[in-house]
Amino acid sequence: MTVEYNPDQKIPHPAMWGVLYKSSTPFWEGVKNKKIMLQKCKSCGNLLNPPRPMCPKCQSQENEWITAKGTGKIYSWVTFNEAPHPAFKAPYAAVLVELDEGPRIVSNMVDVKPEDLEIGMAVEVTFEDVAEDLTLPKFRKAG
Ligand SMILES: [Zn+2]
Repeated sequence: MTVEYNPDQKIPHPAMWGVLYKSSTPFWEGVKNKKIMLQKCKSCGNLLNPPRPMCPKCQSQENEWITAKGTGKIYSWVTFNEAPHPAFKAPYAAVLVELDEGPRIVSNMVDVKPEDLEIGMAVEVTFEDVAEDLTLPKFRKAG
């Protein structure tokens, strides 16, 4: 099958792809309400990250959503010295935050320069309205 390029076709904003994927909708609704929601298997308690229809540990399709504390620590990061898109201002870091509940999420820091990041740095979530219809979870140094 050949897919032809259609310049008139509207392509969703990349950050909205998760919203369009049903399993992630409660996460993005939580972010809109300034909360980090985590999907939890009702059968074995496993936290499913990223969200998905079935638990990879016990194959249960029963799950619920819990509110994360919003605190964690820097697990790792990568510094971008050149911006891949004009919307990004280099240098900036893409951080991998390990939430206190265990799951790791990719985000950015709002108040720490890349050269000041440290593995294990305690962080807490903050929310940035990047567009009228889009809020993103970001992190700042805790305490
Ligand atoms: Zn399970």
